[in-house]
Amino acid sequence: MTQLYPFAGASAPEPLALRPSISDGLKVTPNTMGDAIKATDSYGRRFHYLRLSVTEVCNFRCTYCLPNGWKKSSPMNYMDTQEIRRLVFGFASMGLAKVRLTGGEPAVRKDLTSIIEAVSDIDGVNKVAMTTNGYNLNRYVDDWVSAGLSHLNISIDALNRETFLKITGHDRFEDVMAGLGRALEHDLGAVKVNAVLLRDSVEDGFKGWSDFVRNRPVTVRFIELMRTLDNAEFFADQHVSGEVLRGWLTQNGWAPKMRGIDDGPAIEFVHPDYVGRIGLIAPYSKGFCDSCNRLRVSAKGNMKLCLFGNGGLDLRDLLQSDGGLEEFQARVLGSLQSKNAGHRLSASNPGDTMNLAQTGG
Ligand code: SAM
Ligand code: SF4
Repeated sequence: MTQLYPFAGASAPEPLALRPSISDGLKVTPNTMGDAIKATDSYGRRFHYLRLSVTEVCNFRCTYCLPNGWKKSSPMNYMDTQEIRRLVFGFASMGLAKVRLTGGEPAVRKDLTSIIEAVSDIDGVNKVAMTTNGYNLNRYVDDWVSAGLSHLNISIDALNRETFLKITGHDRFEDVMAGLGRALEHDLGAVKVNAVLLRDSVEDGFKGWSDFVRNRPVTVRFIELMRTLDNAEFFADQHVSGEVLRGWLTQNGWAPKMRGIDDGPAIEFVHPDYVGRIGLIAPYSKGFCDSCNRLRVSAKGNMKLCLFGNGGLDLRDLLQSDGGLEEFQARVLGSLQSKNAGHRLSASNPGDTMNLAQTGG
């Protein structure tokens, strides 16, 4: 049987404990095996992008996500670096090219730098991205970039200290902005800011945000507030259609940019007088799921076919044992065939997603 974790030049797999580690300088080469099997679903969609949650824990209390803060409700037995490496290796053997580390808050993990290093060392993975609330960004972004981080999204929901504190529960605006500044000193593939589109922020207007990107090479992406099982009341009060932003942008000289193959569901707008861009992620818009190219795996190794689906596929046993690559591929591929055409958010059905910290938004 083909083993799940072959190393370059290794004729037969060694017992797990004896295997060379990445720090020995050996590259993992998933494309040497199982190359022909690609992660596709019954609608012909190809999945080359993995959103990987590394923890459910978060230190912030964002109003739309974890308004009462993260509470432990089950054991914190999250995948370790070795399991994560195996998981990503398995997906890379099926055509995966991009991994986004998310959570919870990924930066609460003390071994985050080694996780980034392990993931970026896997052949076939050419983008290692992360979404963070900016915690410890200023302190560690240099290490993360040295370890292989190539793309960064920072969640910043307001451009002033008071509103930032009100939304996140933390008086960290200055620190997060310093982290953003530090990140921009690196030659990253992209630095983006995520901001959830809330009725309150719309009332403050978009002018401040466009000023923010006038001279900064940053894309601010507004995400339409999504309904989860936890936030029904908040959603009813604060959800605003992305059309409001789209209308403002059009009226103010911003034009939608041509979409690239790896762009995902965001529409980005450009303006000749602005260095940065403004983007919109509108999950309630028609056709949003048609170009879905992503899979999600929870911090405990459970693959979710859709952010707003039910249940998932447990892969953990294969990651904890010396499992075979063929078994991994067959399990993933089999599950992908039951992926639905789209989510049912418009019918107020968020599946079993309590909040986005649980699965990694
Ligand atoms: N803690 C990290 C952060 O906040 O960037 C990563 C995890 S967070 C769940 C990922 C993204 O999901 C963040 O940009 C956050 O703003 C967004 N998010 C969380 N809950 C959301 C919701 N109900 N609707 C829309 N976006 C949401
Ligand atoms: Fe934490 Fe991110 Fe959720 Fe905010 S959006 S509570 S930072 S997981």
